[in-house]
Amino acid sequence: MSVTLDLSRARPSAPAAEPKINLAGLGREPLRQTLIESGLVAPEKARMRAGQLWRWIHHFGATSFEPMSDIAKETRATLEEKFVVARPEVALRQVSTDGTRKWLIRFAPGIEAETVFIPDVAQSRGQGALCISSQVGCTLNCSFCHTGTQALVRNLTAAEIVAQIQVARDDLGEWPSPREDRKLSNIVFMGMGEPLYNLDGVAEAMDILSDNEGIGISRRRITVSTSGVVPEIKALGERTQAMLAISLHATNDALRDELVPINKRYPIAELMAAVKAYPGLSNAKRVTFEYVMLKGVNDSPADAKALVKLISGVPAKINLIPFNPWPGTAFECSDRKTIETFAAIVNRAGYAAPVRKPRGRDILAACGQLKSESEKLRASARRKAEAS
Ligand code: SAH
Ligand code: SF4
Repeated sequence: MSVTLDLSRARPSAPAAEPKINLAGLGREPLRQTLIESGLVAPEKARMRAGQLWRWIHHFGATSFEPMSDIAKETRATLEEKFVVARPEVALRQVSTDGTRKWLIRFAPGIEAETVFIPDVAQSRGQGALCISSQVGCTLNCSFCHTGTQALVRNLTAAEIVAQIQVARDDLGEWPSPREDRKLSNIVFMGMGEPLYNLDGVAEAMDILSDNEGIGISRRRITVSTSGVVPEIKALGERTQAMLAISLHATNDALRDELVPINKRYPIAELMAAVKAYPGLSNAKRVTFEYVMLKGVNDSPADAKALVKLISGVPAKINLIPFNPWPGTAFECSDRKTIETFAAIVNRAGYAAPVRKPRGRDILAACGQLKSESEKLRASARRKAEAS
């Protein structure tokens, strides 16, 4: 009997190389700490080095160490041993006939979310808004929302939230961060997920995005939209000074319970009390009430009058959103005439009520149409996917 020795099995396997740390989405302090902990940067030099890296990453949009000309070549080579400055993969990029762009971003195997750029939201000033996601999927299931049909996979990290802006800026060719005449001038947390269920990630991301030596988008130009997570509204204002948007959609509890089920936990009276107490709320810093126009559901003149009554005395504007259909929904969008009548009633009461022009519907990029294929995998299946 002959015996064959399998030498490949006998050889001890080489130790797996440590994955390199991505510096691209770290806040200032974590960046400094990471440099120190790596042993590559002396503690007394860490602040200066972190400052240099920060500008390259967030002002110039660097995706490697190579262009960092004010850091010595040898130092750059040393940094490369343990770090990268990298973007997540863009799994799909679509451009609508109206110029709206949508990216499906793969943060890790099975962890995908969508980001949408809407150019020229304010025509006269040529500004554009980036609609970003805070979670993959959503725990809530508002009955008219496509994202709500996708179970929550997980919260996005601050780095992953920041990466959405970086990916958009790469695609728009908008580096270094311009100080004025920006294409990407506003950010809205109106993509996938409920931002107030990920307040830590959102707050940390906002610190990075609003930093003046980097992306530099002022907190006044960042709007966080919530379905009404009442206990977190005050903390949002205190921690981020973000502009607040509330997905109202109905003016009585019976209907709102159906449309926005979180209303069963935090009914309209509690929501309105939290809005009125929002830190910094004033005529110069108004809350936006979003109101989706659903045919025969919430779009009558009586509904408009009830809305005006409900928000009376609150510094507010109303955003009327024509319902955007998605595969399988039973809702329909209100007629144009009905929306105009509704808007006129709200306007007459002294509230600005712009009707949001649907953008990017042809690529399912409009409000409430976002969804990814990501599903929550069992930990074992995810490890397998990551290893392959
Ligand atoms: N989860 C947060 C933010 C994301 S949703 C929230 O609910 O506020 C962004 C906005 O789109 C919300 O006002 C939401 O109610 C609205 N929306 C959801 N589905 C929609 C649809 N199919 N058509 C129009 N607007 C929709
Ligand atoms: Fe979630 Fe907002 Fe959609 Fe409701 S509207 S399911 S909170 S993403």
